[in-house]
Amino acid sequence: MTQKFDVVVIGAGPGGYVAAIKAAQLGLKTACIEKYQDNEGKIALGGTCLNVGCIPSKALLDSSWKYHEAKVGFSIHGIEAKGVSIDVPAMVARKSNIVKNLTGGVSTLFKANGVTLLEGHGKLLAGKQVEVTALDGTTQVVQAENVIIASGSKPIDIPPAPVNYDTIVDSTGALEFQSVPKTLGVIGAGVIGLELGSVWARLGADVTVIEAQDKFLPAADEQIAKEALKTFTKQGLKIRLGARLTASEVKKKQVTVSFTDAEGEQQMTFDKLIVAVGRRPVTTDLLATDSGVDLDERGFIYVDDQCATSVPGVYAVGDVVRGAMLAHKASEEGVMVAERIAGHKAQMNYDLIPSVIYTHPEIAWVGKTEQQLKGEGVAVNVGTFPFAASGRAMAANDTGGMVKVIADAATDRVLGVHVIGPSAAELVQQGAIGMEFGTSAEDLGMMVFSHPTLSEALHEAALAVNGHAIHVVNRKKR
Ligand code: FAD
Ligand code: AMP
Repeated sequence: MTQKFDVVVIGAGPGGYVAAIKAAQLGLKTACIEKYQDNEGKIALGGTCLNVGCIPSKALLDSSWKYHEAKVGFSIHGIEAKGVSIDVPAMVARKSNIVKNLTGGVSTLFKANGVTLLEGHGKLLAGKQVEVTALDGTTQVVQAENVIIASGSKPIDIPPAPVNYDTIVDSTGALEFQSVPKTLGVIGAGVIGLELGSVWARLGADVTVIEAQDKFLPAADEQIAKEALKTFTKQGLKIRLGARLTASEVKKKQVTVSFTDAEGEQQMTFDKLIVAVGRRPVTTDLLATDSGVDLDERGFIYVDDQCATSVPGVYAVGDVVRGAMLAHKASEEGVMVAERIAGHKAQMNYDLIPSVIYTHPEIAWVGKTEQQLKGEGVAVNVGTFPFAASGRAMAANDTGGMVKVIADAATDRVLGVHVIGPSAAELVQQGAIGMEFGTSAEDLGMMVFSHPTLSEALHEAALAVNGHAIHVVNRKKR
């Protein structure tokens, strides 16, 4: 007999698993279909984020940072650390254990919330039926009142550098190196390229990042991007902007890449090459030809602001739809859709999705950049505060970067918070909370911040917007 559900979710990444748990919590009979197999051939939940994305990359970033600190950062504190060495397989195994813990945790949450897991590949048929093909090839069709597609994304392949899972890898392969490459090329200076490049650079690789665009981090505030480029270059990361990869050749366990830049045709040889040129939506064999669901011109599932597709009762969330490819965006869309299915009038504020790059220093922002606001003709006041003037940052010997607060010149409402520096991701979240409640720079300035904290840099930057900073000379005079 055909199984029937109120909600069937395709994909158990941060978009899908969160939607499924929320739907079940709201009393809806919910199933979630997942096909991803881990190294042991078992179905693993959590999607890209938990298995090969956010979590494993942060595990390696944290391990590599500790190594780097032990090697070069301890001496200033008077700590002598001799003979510091790295066991890469142990570091990678720790990462894999964290992944296992978290993906297992999602299975537990499914059980605890009564979500039915259907193992296999899901395909949307007409009439909100979903075909599930199990790993052994057997199929069943389930009937859904509502379907949430959360099939996510995968790395983009480029013809000049086909991934061979050995010398040329994608982001997944770059989480599995068993030794530190002497020389490492990274194609693409996006978030993923910079984070993975940083991991291996901290462990001793000589890293060159090849980026087609002339501008570094074009989505970030220009002042912050400029500071980031300066800092990364000082750290030894070689960033070649305006350099487009044209070909690669693998020979004797090395890869020679050809690229063109302002000076013409160039060649470089690396032990390993990471291709990190972006991600594309996963829609292969996902939609029957008569499913009625439309794709947009870039191959994403077409949805409106509430994640409804062209078929009533069918929704899509996360990386497979327009917008930032971020786990927290996927999850919040999942919650919104589950709530709407349950009859609530949920909405999502797409203007306040924080972005983070987990390099050192971290880079994070929420809201609009100064150049965006100027482009829109909005008059703004800007306040900045350098971590070099923060007692807490000095105590931690981590004084690079700044906090920048941008407020509307007419109303003082905060329109953007941008941070490069220690704990930037956590600091920006404070700005996001304030902005969600419509804070003015003055409101932030009137709050009591604990001393000594890195958060005081946000306080001072907010004060600086109107020329009231105490611990830095004000650019704007009262
Ligand atoms: P996914 O996580 O891709 O999950 C989709 C799931 O659907 C997969 O498990 C897939 O197997 C399954 N699936 C697909 N098709 C089918 C089908 N037909 N049937 C059954 N199952 C199917 N984001 C952040 O916010 N912070 C970070 O720090 C961060 N770091 C990242 C680092 C790296 C190296 C990478 C690659 C990504 C990172 N991201 C980060 C991005 C983040 O991982 C994604 O935005 C997020 O995973 C998207 O969630 P999703 O649920 O839409 O899709
Ligand atoms: P993101 O989409 O943020 O992950 O970043 C991917 C980056 O890769 C972008 O900045 C692209 O400009 C860059 N990129 C894409 N194709 C190439 C190429 N052939 N050579 C160099 N860089 C590229």
